[in-house]
Amino acid sequence: MDRLAKKYLRPRKIPSTACSGCGLGQVQKKVLLAIEQLDLAPEEVVWGTGIGCAGRQSFNIWKGDNFAGTHGRVYAIAAGLRVALPEDKRIILFAGDGDAFGIGFSHLMHCARRNLDLSIIVADNFGYQSTGGQYGYTTPGGYVTDSSPYGNHEGGWLQKGIDILAILKEAGATFLARHSSLEGPAAVASIRKAIENRGFSLVHIIYPCVTHFGAVSLKSRDKEEIFRWFEGLFKENAGLYFKSGVYHDGTNSRPEFAAALKAWTKERQEEAQHG
Ligand code: SF4
Repeated sequence: MDRLAKKYLRPRKIPSTACSGCGLGQVQKKVLLAIEQLDLAPEEVVWGTGIGCAGRQSFNIWKGDNFAGTHGRVYAIAAGLRVALPEDKRIILFAGDGDAFGIGFSHLMHCARRNLDLSIIVADNFGYQSTGGQYGYTTPGGYVTDSSPYGNHEGGWLQKGIDILAILKEAGATFLARHSSLEGPAAVASIRKAIENRGFSLVHIIYPCVTHFGAVSLKSRDKEEIFRWFEGLFKENAGLYFKSGVYHDGTNSRPEFAAALKAWTKERQEEAQHG
């Protein structure tokens, strides 16, 4: 068993149920590396998951406390936990692109607006792959999917000139980054910063789906060919919509919601007591 998996994950959840060759494992490994570099113990982290490939493959895997939400709702649950739990408990959410950037987007935006202390990893496989490969909010334009037989005409969040990270920044997020799953230390460093920031942090990591996206959109089941396509996509679009790196670092620049709420409530209670 992998050293990090042995240290942080529940043995009965290993090996993962992800398809062989899926890039999701690369994303999970980066999160575990960041946690290890920060020297966090399983009991110091609460691990939340959403729905879809990212949610299903990472549900209940953490050796410490776990929770999960129905589609797009994990952010609302996390908001309640953030207020209820001690400030030093780290809450890490592992969700997919459909969960975070689609059905859960309204909840996500309000967590950013409030600068809630959450570290959110969005593992993006370019669509709804766990349900057979329908196009989603980040599917590259032009690609044939199960629900776009003539090609995806929309483009999605990354290609229509409206970067979803720009919206989250405007909403109030204090740390945002984007990487490909093929990146190593830079992506781990971003996750580390996201966990360290006492506020809303999101790291968007795009990974290749070797099953549905590969077979339907790329017409290939050759994993090496799919990974080469993925690598090329980032290279060709570096500086455009697949620009990697830290997008916004406003670490600790705004009050964190749960801490501010507690302080505000305490003040009101003291005022009420002393008339
Ligand atoms: S369907 Fe695609 S994204 Fe989902 S586990 Fe399989 S390879 Fe990974």
